[in-house]
Amino acid sequence: MSVNPNPLPLVFDEPRGRKKPPRHLADLDEDGRKQLLVDAGLPGFRAKQLSNHYFTRLVNDPAEMTDLPAAQREELVSALLPELMTPLRTLEADKGTTRKTLWKLFDGALVESVLMRYKDRTTMCVSSQAGCGMACPFCATGQGGLQRNMSTAEIVEQVVAGARVMAAGEVPGGPGRVSNVVFMGMGEPLANYKAVIGAVRRLTDPTPAGLGMSARHVTVSTVGLVPRINQLAEEGIPVTLALSLHAPDDELRNELVPINTRFSVAETVDAAHNYFAKTGRRVSIEYAMMRGINDQAHRADLLGDVLNERGHGWVHVNLIPLNPTPGSKWTASDPEDEREFVRRLEAKGISTTVRDTRGSDIDGACGQLAAVE
Ligand code: SAH
Repeated sequence: MSVNPNPLPLVFDEPRGRKKPPRHLADLDEDGRKQLLVDAGLPGFRAKQLSNHYFTRLVNDPAEMTDLPAAQREELVSALLPELMTPLRTLEADKGTTRKTLWKLFDGALVESVLMRYKDRTTMCVSSQAGCGMACPFCATGQGGLQRNMSTAEIVEQVVAGARVMAAGEVPGGPGRVSNVVFMGMGEPLANYKAVIGAVRRLTDPTPAGLGMSARHVTVSTVGLVPRINQLAEEGIPVTLALSLHAPDDELRNELVPINTRFSVAETVDAAHNYFAKTGRRVSIEYAMMRGINDQAHRADLLGDVLNERGHGWVHVNLIPLNPTPGSKWTASDPEDEREFVRRLEAKGISTTVRDTRGSDIDGACGQLAAVE
């Protein structure tokens, strides 16, 4: 069976010689920020004040930075807090508790982020690349190819923008904060490893150096770049790893997740298990349920076996009802088949949930981010 007759070439590296996004304090650690000011002939100790405005006060208007000398304010702000992106459009769903924002980056590249407020948490779903080179045929982002990697600060800015909206009480439910971040927007985070690690550090660095979030509340989702998963396991930051598996056998996964032709199901699941072994963090397996494609009972059994072969209690399966994407010939599974799939996994002792897919009516759900104006 060939469900993906025309796989796109896999793109790992963006074109060289591009102009870089503006340098921003979120790209740098505390020493780097100081040094940048000193190199510009400005007082290094101002870096901490600027960091406080950005990460603690969530302020970006120089007029509100009254602890900075008026004469130097503009210069300091343009050195460390340049404007990185402009919101072009925000769409709301779920009575305003789901908000998708389309951003234009400095070079015209477009990306999207999605804020989702739940009773007990607020999650920002961020993009790590403009476009994506992984070419998964059921994902809208994958259809457009990769434009470029995003910088650390461009990734962080999406979260800070969400934090501002929450702090300002613009999301129904009263003022609040962003508690969780998921790298499940546009792009393959582990194909932009360095910038993504930088962003994870800025999110988890204590304020005012960073946003002071818990690493456990940060999830990095990947198609399964095996060497990068192993590298992530050594970083000493206990983020949650989510692996987009979507099929338990190589024949089908080669079609659904083309990178599987490079890293097999066995190698990929081994790397996920290694991540658990090294970090103690339970891994989340993402599995988009596609009617008649990967949702058969025998595949549920095989998935259970593939996971149990490596151990018990190390993994959680998150089934995602397939969201429609333009031109896609696949549809979500029959609810009856979905229930049977869950039942079979649970019978093998694997904890399984079905993801509540928010924002599909604004094309803001998993796999629907295409960033078109
Ligand atoms: N590139 C990363 C993160 C982005 S997508 C990754 O692949 O993990 C986040 C999740 O949404 C992935 O599991 C992805 O496979 C899934 N997804 C993509 N398209 C989808 C669709 N049309 N319906 C449901 N889930 C989808």
